Amino acid sequence: MRYLSAFISYLSSSSILVSASRSDCKCYPNDACWPSKSDWDAFNTSLSGALIQPIPPASVCYPSQHNHNEEACSIIRSQWFNSSWHAQDPISIDYPIWANNSCNPIFPNGTSVTGDPDAGKKGCSLGNYPVYVVNATSAEHVAEALKWAGSKNVRVVVKNTGHSFPGRSVGYGSLSIWTHNFRAIEYINDFKPISCPINGTQRAARLAAGITGVEAQAEMAKHDSIVVIGGNPSVGLVGWLTGGGHGALSTTYGMGADNLLEATIVTPTGEILTANPCQNSDLFFAIRGGGGGTYGVVLEVVVKAYSTPQTTFHTLAIGSPAPNVSKEYWDLIGFLHAEMPRLKAGGMQGYYFIVGPPATPTYSFLWGFYLYDKPNGTVEALMAPIEARLKKDAAFFTYQSNHTTAPTFWDVFKESQNELVATGGAAYGSRLLSPESLGDSERTAKVFKEIGPSNDPLKPNGPFSNPVLLGHMIASPNEPSYYPDAVSFHPAWRKTLAHFIVVEGWPEGVAPEIIRSVYTDITSNKTEPLRKLAPDTGAYFNECDSFEPEWQTAFFGPHYRRLRQIKEKYDPGAILWCRRCVGSEVYTEQEDGRLCRVKGYGPRDREKRVWGDYSEDVSAGSGWGKRKESGWNHKAIEDVNENDWHKRAEDGNEWKNAIDAVDGNPWHGRSEEGHSWARRSDGEERQIWSAGDGNEWGKREAQGQNWSPGDGQNWGPAVGAEDMERAN
Ligand SMILES: Cc1cc2nc3c(=O)[nH]c(=O)nc-3n(C[C@H](O)[C@H](O)[C@H](O)COP(=O)(O)OP(=O)(O)OC[C@H]3O[C@@H](n4cnc5c(N)ncnc54)[C@H](O)[C@@H]3O)c2cc1C
Repeated sequence: MRYLSAFISYLSSSSILVSASRSDCKCYPNDACWPSKSDWDAFNTSLSGALIQPIPPASVCYPSQHNHNEEACSIIRSQWFNSSWHAQDPISIDYPIWANNSCNPIFPNGTSVTGDPDAGKKGCSLGNYPVYVVNATSAEHVAEALKWAGSKNVRVVVKNTGHSFPGRSVGYGSLSIWTHNFRAIEYINDFKPISCPINGTQRAARLAAGITGVEAQAEMAKHDSIVVIGGNPSVGLVGWLTGGGHGALSTTYGMGADNLLEATIVTPTGEILTANPCQNSDLFFAIRGGGGGTYGVVLEVVVKAYSTPQTTFHTLAIGSPAPNVSKEYWDLIGFLHAEMPRLKAGGMQGYYFIVGPPATPTYSFLWGFYLYDKPNGTVEALMAPIEARLKKDAAFFTYQSNHTTAPTFWDVFKESQNELVATGGAAYGSRLLSPESLGDSERTAKVFKEIGPSNDPLKPNGPFSNPVLLGHMIASPNEPSYYPDAVSFHPAWRKTLAHFIVVEGWPEGVAPEIIRSVYTDITSNKTEPLRKLAPDTGAYFNECDSFEPEWQTAFFGPHYRRLRQIKEKYDPGAILWCRRCVGSEVYTEQEDGRLCRVKGYGPRDREKRVWGDYSEDVSAGSGWGKRKESGWNHKAIEDVNENDWHKRAEDGNEWKNAIDAVDGNPWHGRSEEGHSWARRSDGEERQIWSAGDGNEWGKREAQGQNWSPGDGQNWGPAVGAEDMERAN
């Protein structure tokens, strides 16, 4: 078994419908279709020797390995929790659970650094790390790798730093394209997107695919400039901004995706394309929030740069001196969240923690908030009501509130430390919380008490340990001035006060049942109350629950259909695949780690199904189980494969006729095939609208546009930027 049992339920549920023959799967070592040694050699020659056959770096710790070397192992042990170290290794990742913990560093007594006493006995193996790596340094390397892997039916992953929470940069039996060694950084005073009829120029930075946030910022500091980067210094720019990208600057200056001006991408078919608002604008839209590792391999990005602001950094640390102050603590948490819209409007943005035993001795609340170009006295004024409350409750809390101001952002940011990674297993839940959802302090207190740490570390509020709650008050409320319509992350980000993460960890080696129960606890008991608190929002693709239900809608909202079309356009062979990424429904990851085509999916198999037969969520979150639970009669519907049915159910709109929606874009497909929409339960009858890309029906309606039906060409009057793409 290649996967930890933690994932067995996920994998086996995904496998229920899969009766894939080997030919439906990618090719794996020992399969007849796996490329021969001479094939790999020829491939290496075509790459001018850039192919690596990797070994897990911690193999030096294992006496059974030929490269055993205690001195080298002690260095790896000292670096294992450092994300910058993992970024510099061709295969190592921040969450080695996704590589089946197959070769974590061990002490001489055989216990792993993450606490598994049997790790030495289990030994070191490749696990789910890639079999080969292209150490890419040119567009040709990447194009050749993608084309070759497609022709040989070999799974491809793309790794930059290896930060992905759901292990998207690793995969069993894969060929990895490692982008770390694309190293160029260029400051540009007068950038203009290629071929764009746009007036004026932008201050910008051209950053190659291997650049991390801290590297970009250090370079910009030399030009008294900033770019928006992640809160954690070592996060890679490309994986971060393609999924949305928040950071200490993002409320004021926009999300990472908002700031992308242009990118160079190698598509899975090997084309090297420029994507900007005027060229390949669909691709530009897709990589501005629609996820990394999906539409192609990005070689470089051009992002907007700004003059560095004067930066104030404020820290607040609240502790509870007594162990049993639970009610007052949660009341305070409710109060602080109700205050946050005011703080945000006043210019504060940043990250906060709600933690209890055993991470901290008693309940604590900590934040680090940034303010830019604010006059003296701003922090004091913003903090006055909060300090008044803390003083009133002095019997229950101690607190420290400090701030410093520096002339530049870099002066503050350069002191930031990487968060620790690879410390064992961890399950994450994610939710975007709007100001409205946090406006009722009593309700907030109740929900956070339900999902937060308990008083007693011996009776944690989780199957194994107390959860830690992380708040990210960093969402960008404003549409960017540049290309506001070309953003594909969930629109709920624009009305988000805080992105919220719930985390529960466990040491390596605990029983699989416990790991499974932690995942279930996070999805069902910890994140579900947040979903109920903010039902109209979504979750963050980059920092997601690995089991997020109905993930397509949760991550991308109304953009999913269009993203799916773009994926199919640029990657018709589904060469790039990652977990809960756009278009990933076409494959399922089996118990043995293989990726196999899901049978009966869309155009591949039109066999009729009866929804009621399946009680599991079998298509990676598309809501099958829910449909059954909610009593919907989904008879004879061919797999619509997206969330559409569920959504309709939620809207109370019942579509009378089962329509074959086989291309992942039901509206478009139906329209093309001449299907007529049935009457909806609200009594409205919809005509077939003429063709198009099928993405913007809602929008057009909302704008009161009367789009002409008929010939598939006549869209009626153009409505600005949204139609620019079409006009082109
Ligand atoms: C310690 C830590 C702190 C974090 N802090 C933040 C934060 O402050 N803000 C935030 O928004 N997120 C944060 N994240 C989440 C982070 O945004 C994601 O993990 C992101 O995907 C990392 O991208 P990467 O390129 O560094 O990582 P990788 O794991 O290398 O890649 C992540 C994904 O992007 C794809 N990808 C990478 N490079 C390319 C490329 N050149 N072309 C196409 N696809 C590519 C990969 O295939 C993979 O699917 C954090 C994660 C960690 C582990």
